[in-house]
Amino acid sequence: MLDRLEPQSPDALLALIKLHAADERSDKIDLGVGVYRTKDGDTPVFRAIKAAERRLVEKQSSKSYLGPEGDMGFVHALMPYVFGDDAVYGERIEGMQTPGGTGAVRLAVALAQRGGVEAVHLGIPSWPNHAQILADIGMETRTFSHARDDGTADIEAVLEVIAKATAKEAILLHACCHNPTGIDYTNDEWDRIADALSRSEVFPIIDSAYQGLGRGMEEDAYGLRRVLDKVEEAMIAYSCDKNFGMYRDRVGALYVMAKESAQLDTVMSNLNALARASWSMPPDHGAAAVREILSDPELSKDWLAEVEEMRERMREVRGILADAGEVGSLDLAPLGEQNGLFSVLPLDKDQIARLRSEHGIYMAGSGRINVAGLTRGNIDKFIGALADVAS
Ligand code: PMP
Repeated sequence: MLDRLEPQSPDALLALIKLHAADERSDKIDLGVGVYRTKDGDTPVFRAIKAAERRLVEKQSSKSYLGPEGDMGFVHALMPYVFGDDAVYGERIEGMQTPGGTGAVRLAVALAQRGGVEAVHLGIPSWPNHAQILADIGMETRTFSHARDDGTADIEAVLEVIAKATAKEAILLHACCHNPTGIDYTNDEWDRIADALSRSEVFPIIDSAYQGLGRGMEEDAYGLRRVLDKVEEAMIAYSCDKNFGMYRDRVGALYVMAKESAQLDTVMSNLNALARASWSMPPDHGAAAVREILSDPELSKDWLAEVEEMRERMREVRGILADAGEVGSLDLAPLGEQNGLFSVLPLDKDQIARLRSEHGIYMAGSGRINVAGLTRGNIDKFIGALADVAS
């Protein structure tokens, strides 16, 4: 049997990590991997997580099974941050814990498939795993353009898709900090999207993997809340892996908003069955630590302060890049308006290869850069290298 398997191409970013690790230049710059870094280049464990973990070690009396839905205390404690304190959807939303945002996206697509959805509309470029998950589940992907060349969102493209789509289709939207472009819909654009969705039968799935890292915790939830205000049904796939720095601990949740609360038992029984057949139960530790933080006002405050530090640092880096303006043939000004960890530079393969070989600067083959890989210490070198290859 094994000899019938086709080799799969390795994940390009993982290959980049290896190349970067093997590079002996002391001034090399890693803009590839999608994790936050401090001004010193670290990806530390949050203070609030450390404190929560200490408490968990003391308090936890059993590691017996919890069930496919995971830690429901965590799922519910997160809801005010996602949906707002005064959310009126109240009884119509339920959720379950998932292994990261990836598990949540996978579960959302699998549930949509059970509900008769045959194709998912995806704005491209997108996080590469979106298309991979859709293909693996056997869901057809239909693509539309997410952004225009001038660094703004292609609002007409998304509105057209929503207007034409049927009840057998879903649309997958990024809540904030779009990966890879950093180009988010403005509040006005979200209003238009929410209105269009209210007139369409297409099922909205919103992927929120970076809340708090763009404009603010509340600001980054604007779009998804407006959509939920306007539609009858939707799903939110949520990741805590970036905004709690929990990457390897795999902390996520899937929320479903139904037309009526009476439907939620059936929804949850389907989600339970899908989770049971996929991973049985999500890993406990990370979600328990997040629950510990969210149920303690002091720890919550410290967590939010740390998210703010991250956001401010990324805004500072974006500001410096935007101020550099035109660098060779590149215009860096739009990066100042973009959000989150990522932006895409319109560089070709040769330019990206030269940045690596001649300047020790590593970025994804798509031209995506992680702005958190830049610091006051290396940003001038980066801008100089761009001027060199894009001249
Ligand atoms: N959605 C998007 C848009 C992402 O960028 C990511 C992380 N790269 C995820 C979901 C999944 O995150 P997690 O690590 O929690 O699985």
